[in-house]
Parts: sequence; structure tokens; C-alpha cells
Amino acid sequence: MRKSIATAVGLALAALVGAAPLAAQDFPVDPPRRPTPVGPAPPASIARPAAPAAAELITPFQMLDRFVLPGSRQTLEWVPPDGLGRGEVPSPIIVVHGAQPGPILCLIAGIHGDEVNGIEVVRRIGHEVDPTRLRGTLVAAPIVNVFGFSRISRYLPDRRDLNRHFPGSRGGSIASRMAHGFFNDVVRRCDAIVDFHTGSFQRSNLPQIRADLTNAEVLDFTRGFGNTLVLHSPGARGMLRVAAVAAGIPAVTFEVGAPQFLEMQHIAPAADAIRTLMHRMDLLASEAHGQASGEPVPIYFDSRWVRTNAAGFLFAEVELGQTVKLGQRLGHVIDPVTNERTNIVAPFPGQVLGKALNQQVLPGYAAFHIGRLTSEQQAVLEAADPGASADEVGEDPSERPAAEQPDVERE
Ligand SMILES: [Zn+2]
Repeated sequence: MRKSIATAVGLALAALVGAAPLAAQDFPVDPPRRPTPVGPAPPASIARPAAPAAAELITPFQMLDRFVLPGSRQTLEWVPPDGLGRGEVPSPIIVVHGAQPGPILCLIAGIHGDEVNGIEVVRRIGHEVDPTRLRGTLVAAPIVNVFGFSRISRYLPDRRDLNRHFPGSRGGSIASRMAHGFFNDVVRRCDAIVDFHTGSFQRSNLPQIRADLTNAEVLDFTRGFGNTLVLHSPGARGMLRVAAVAAGIPAVTFEVGAPQFLEMQHIAPAADAIRTLMHRMDLLASEAHGQASGEPVPIYFDSRWVRTNAAGFLFAEVELGQTVKLGQRLGHVIDPVTNERTNIVAPFPGQVLGKALNQQVLPGYAAFHIGRLTSEQQAVLEAADPGASADEVGEDPSERPAAEQPDVERE
């Protein structure tokens, strides 16, 4: 069934020569409506192709004032507005434009510049996908916050958190202008978005999808990631995924490990989940991937954070992904002044989805994120009625550091 790449590109180029002007075209395009032709028939080389070929006709993908030909990969550069990015490394935008039409999937990372696991996942996928086998378009933006990336920092130069300012505004703060530029230049072009993050401030998360399961389109999107953990989280105002969903684009957050570390044990399964997603969305043909083992299904969890009740040094006694029993010791806090020891125990049986790294803590510090396996149906029910769960993921400190760090965020 699949046409050779040379044929597809040839047809697209032929169409460009013979059809409507390039600049105004979007993707995919409807065939131009033209009046009955007058004069001699066009030469055979640019004549309208036969009907079956016309259905698969595909034009170059236009983004950031560049055109990416069907069946090719090109790395574009996104520049923050108003000269904000002057002197910074350019933000690479890897566009893989398929030889056949299909949806535009966007992979975004590095909104927090020190969350390198996601940057690596997006780099890998962006450069490994074969454009000649792709149906649709992959847009991979691994390093949005170029300031934070080169300074190994979560924040922007004004110490604001870029992921609290989407969709942004043209005349706002540095963060708001950055958000506005990226939202209009890239985000609005996407049909679906995965935004990569990690736990923040010395916390690590097992690879997991965070999504607003009360939104039917978003819920359907979460089904595509294979056997990845999925947690309901409504998100906070200003997050990219919240602004994208408000603009009608299904979007989720993919949490992968801890900031500032390159963790192979988390990067590899996250990249696998994206490969599965691309098959599920039909961007890639399914023959080579997972057919024999059957369709992998997502694993829905409800969860809560277990907090410390003492000040001192936190020592964990469980690993990410470990199954724990009711009352099992998760870790302990030792007060280095009094030598007093306080144990932290599991409030219910479950699995360790996230944890704080060993560090100095105060009472109330979120230390262990414990999840309880649930069904998709139950997860959706609880998402619709957040009062039913005791400490839902919306309280997650790894998504809401700004609220907990008034010294960092001055708004
Ligand atoms: Zn983040």
C-alpha cells in the first residue's frame, strides 16, 4: 500500500508547482477550488494525479518561517520573542514530516531547564523516527527554556517558573512573553501534546502520565501510552498542558525521574511509551511493535503524598516502584540535634510512585508518593468528584513548587 518516498515527494512537489500559492497553505490542505480551466491542458508532468494518489497528497509542513518537505527531517530554531534569547543557545525544534498525512504530535521538554531526563527522551525520539515511514508530523521541542538549560536551573532569568505563565501575553513579564511566543509559534500547531517534566527539588517520580481525566479527549489520549502509570491531576493555572487543553488540544504531562540527573532506568521506558503512543495514534505502522504481546493497557492509580511530621534528616527505606504494605516503614527522620528518630509508615497498601531524595526536611515535607491501583472507570469517577479522595495529586508538590516557594516566586 505504501508509496515510495520518491513518489510521494514528487507528487507533492508537482502539486506545489501546479496548485495554489505556498504561503497561505495549512496542513493538510483541501484541494484548491478552481474555475473551469481555459486554454491548453497542463503538461502531463504537472497534471492532477489520479484519484487514489490525490487522497494521499501531502504538502510541506510550515513552521517558524521554514518549510519541511514530506518524508524529511529538519531541525528548526525557535527564538524567544523581543530578543529575549539573545546570547543563548538556540532552542532546537526537530520536525519530522511524514511521507503520508496524519496528525501532528508534539513532544515538549525543558520548560524547566534542569529536567534533563525529558530533554533526552525528546531528543532520542525526534532523531530516531524514520520520516519515510511516518504518517503525519512529529514536532520535538526538547529545550524550551534555553536560559534554564544553560544555567542548569528550573527558572527563567527573572526567577519565574515558565510553566505557570501559559498561554502568556505579548506585553507581560519575561516568563509571560516567552510563554506567549512559544504557545503561538509551536503549541497552537499541535494536534496532541506530551510535555515532559520530572519531580522537582530533590524528588524523583516513577515515569507517569499526569492528566485531567475529566476531559474526554485527554482521557482518550492517556490510553495510548502502553502500560504506563496514569494519575488524575487537574493541573495548575498557567501550566502548558492546562492552557493547551483550554485551547482544544489534548495534552498531558509525562513525569520522568528527578531533575538534574540522567536516569537511564526512567528514560528508556518513557521513550518506549512514546513509541507505543505513535503506533497507537497511527503515526507509525504497527507491524513492528507490540502486536504479538497484545495491546498494552495503561495502569490507573489514585494516590497521596505521605508527609514528614518531624524535622531533621530524611532517610528513605523504599525504592521507586516498590510495593508496600499497610503500616510498612517507608523511611525515617533523624533529628541531628536531639538524635530523636521518627518513623514514616505507609497509610495504605500500594506502590511508591514518587519519593524525596535523602535530605534535610521540616515537618509537613512531602516525602513519599504512594499510589493505589484503580480502574480507569474508578479513576474517572474520582476525578469528577475530587472531594472523595483524601489528598489528590492536585496537591502534588512536584507540580506546585511555586506555591510552596514564596521566596522564589514573587507575584
Ligand atoms: Zn518540570
